[in-house]
Amino acid sequence: MALFPQTFIDEVRAAADIVAVVGDSVSLRKAGATYKGLCPFHGEKTPSFNVNRDRGFFHCFGCGVGGDVFKFIELQDKIGFQEAVRTLAQRFGIPIPEMEATGEQRETAAEREALVKIHEVAVAHFREQLASPAGARIREYLLKERGLTPETIDKLQIGFAPQGRDALRQRLLKQGFSPLQLVTSGLVSRRDDGSEVDRFRNRLMIPIARDTGTVVAFGGRALEKNQQPKYLNSPETPIYTKSRTLYGLNLTKGDLRKVRYAIIVEGYFDFAQVYQAGGFPVVATCGTALTPQQAQILHRFTSKTVLCYDPDSAGQTAAERSSELLVAEGFVVNVMTLPGGGDPDTFIQKNGAEGFREQLKHSRPYLEFLLDRAAAEHDLTRDDNRREFLKRMLGVAARIPDPAVRDQFADRLAHKARVTEDVVRAEIRKAAANRKTELPAERVPSLQGHVRKAEKGLIWSLVHDPVGTMQWLGQLEPEDLKGLSTANILRTAQELEVRPEDVPSALMERLSTQEAELLASVAAEPSAPAVLPDLCVVALKYVRLERELADVQRELNRLQNMGDSGPASMALLARKTQMVRALEAMKPPKELQ
Ligand SMILES: [Zn+2]
Repeated sequence: MALFPQTFIDEVRAAADIVAVVGDSVSLRKAGATYKGLCPFHGEKTPSFNVNRDRGFFHCFGCGVGGDVFKFIELQDKIGFQEAVRTLAQRFGIPIPEMEATGEQRETAAEREALVKIHEVAVAHFREQLASPAGARIREYLLKERGLTPETIDKLQIGFAPQGRDALRQRLLKQGFSPLQLVTSGLVSRRDDGSEVDRFRNRLMIPIARDTGTVVAFGGRALEKNQQPKYLNSPETPIYTKSRTLYGLNLTKGDLRKVRYAIIVEGYFDFAQVYQAGGFPVVATCGTALTPQQAQILHRFTSKTVLCYDPDSAGQTAAERSSELLVAEGFVVNVMTLPGGGDPDTFIQKNGAEGFREQLKHSRPYLEFLLDRAAAEHDLTRDDNRREFLKRMLGVAARIPDPAVRDQFADRLAHKARVTEDVVRAEIRKAAANRKTELPAERVPSLQGHVRKAEKGLIWSLVHDPVGTMQWLGQLEPEDLKGLSTANILRTAQELEVRPEDVPSALMERLSTQEAELLASVAAEPSAPAVLPDLCVVALKYVRLERELADVQRELNRLQNMGDSGPASMALLARKTQMVRALEAMKPPKELQ
């Protein structure tokens, strides 16, 4: 693989301002020397994602990810290092050196390029068909029955694939694309007899774009009553992954950033109507249940969502599943249930943008929605139903990341199920704890030597309760830190002259990459790895005393071997007795030593 020269990489790194790059997708707030925001790589509601401009790195105390500006692009765009360098070079206008690409690299890049071009041609083709006399009745359908304006049709680049056999295929072949490329693009299907035809025939064509606007797939809607399936979509291709695409985001991402929430609808036409109504931050999932990847894409823009699904049972079940997923990803979720049994598409056609805006105001927090829906399904006057209902809702509650919200939910749940609050709270805590233990253990990067539980405990508390921990840290003397592999981290923290609440980020700035990694991974543990910080301090003092006792014993042995039993030996012996007593008196919990 041809690699970029290091000088080029350094040049890109120097030019690519990490705050600007991260700020493209994460909204950052300046806090002291660093910038803070919600981590785009895990769900969270309070910012633990730090970006340091001067040192050029980012770090999340929540999930432990971190690295430089290239690493950020790699994680965010799911690409390799070389491609991240290339992306940033392009963005910051640094000429990319001519390089010998390997055959394979050239092939994949060229392949993807060709697939994108094929889609460009297809968009133009389908739009021409819609504008042609053959498309007249489809235009009529869009304007009259679907209630779309010519402007919306244009913005969404809607087109028409006429009934014919392979008009698009012929056109693409003439433009020089190979038959294999056409099949790979998903726009041409190969039949069992080996013949090849256009996949989309007699369908309304809706282009699906990445959030950058590049069209990578199509949704094709049936135009006849008995035409099956009603929606035929592009298959997954090297440029299209269904679970990672949110329909319409390319058109509304500016609105999402502006208002800081997203309305999620199900279908293309739901999207089209809400979008046409003007200024709503809407995206659509289009036929799939919301996926974690889609949630993570949304996270780059906002952490608040309003679900607006079909009022039918399937739609409401989808809303339920999606809201649970979003909450687990750290979103604040509201659910909007439209009156009159219509989906957003028909509702807006009937009630207009104002009607929709009014309903938006009445959207309910998803917990209320879930509780009401579950309570409506179970006759809660019966004991067994109440137990069943409680059990299901406990599972939901266990996934609520914020303990305060969890307790609130418990109280409302208790009210609905007619159980005392304490019982429900206890059950929820139990369920949440079980969930935590199911998570795989975090990898702790190793510094030189062993890191004691007491050290980890102090570091963890330092991040999660800096105010309470700094005073205990002050009790540690330089001698207490001697020989500890985390000595530098703890000493650096002691020497900080910032407000206690700024300690975690200020500390990160001053540590080596390896120490910063250790700090972040300890902090990412879901609960404190040790008991209270004061006991951790005691434990470290105990370690020091043990070490000093060993020194005294060594010195005693030396003197005795020399046959010395004078005052020096006597003094040492007395010192030893004193130390042994002190050690016994201290006795921190065994696991901390
Ligand atoms: Zn994170």
